Amino acid sequence: MGHVSQPGLDAAPLIADHLALDMLNTEAGTGDAQQDFWRSGNAVLAWLERSGIDPGEHPETVMDDFLRDARALRAAARDLISRRMQGERGDPALLNRYLAAMVSTPALVWDAAQPQLVRQGREPSPARALGTLAEAVAALLADGDFALVRQCEHPECVLWFYDRTKSHRRRWCSMALCGNRHKAAQFRARNRPAA
Ligand SMILES: [Zn+2]
Repeated sequence: MGHVSQPGLDAAPLIADHLALDMLNTEAGTGDAQQDFWRSGNAVLAWLERSGIDPGEHPETVMDDFLRDARALRAAARDLISRRMQGERGDPALLNRYLAAMVSTPALVWDAAQPQLVRQGREPSPARALGTLAEAVAALLADGDFALVRQCEHPECVLWFYDRTKSHRRRWCSMALCGNRHKAAQFRARNRPAA
């Protein structure tokens, strides 16, 4: 079990306001404080459930492969999102392999006065759960406003977020974490006696 250096952070922060960026935030901190919250297949499953994604049945025997696949998806997402930030073109081949797990068919559901057209997929499974993450990444890349995709301004913080505030002036992963750290540093700087 990895050691957690930032007090209060024993689970990945879900602060990004976007599923794809919350996935990137499962790697947090810089330097010695760097940590990967996806330490095991079970840690990924717990994270998926916290994020509202049903990972379905998951035999213990597939957990090593599942962890490897989840981390590979995350690395691909980080690469593609970073390229999109820099106005470069990325290679979507790996992402598309995860999306291929998302086969679904249209179905008409008519259990109320108003019928509804929905898409029905296969049973929830770890592979489909990763497909859901891949879809969030693809949607961000295709439809996201990248002026609003940012990283926390604190120099020791690498957390990403999608700025959905009205003023579009969000600067911090969270006010409680980095916003207050920044304010305290400014306060110390202002009150330091002149040399
Ligand atoms: Zn931060």
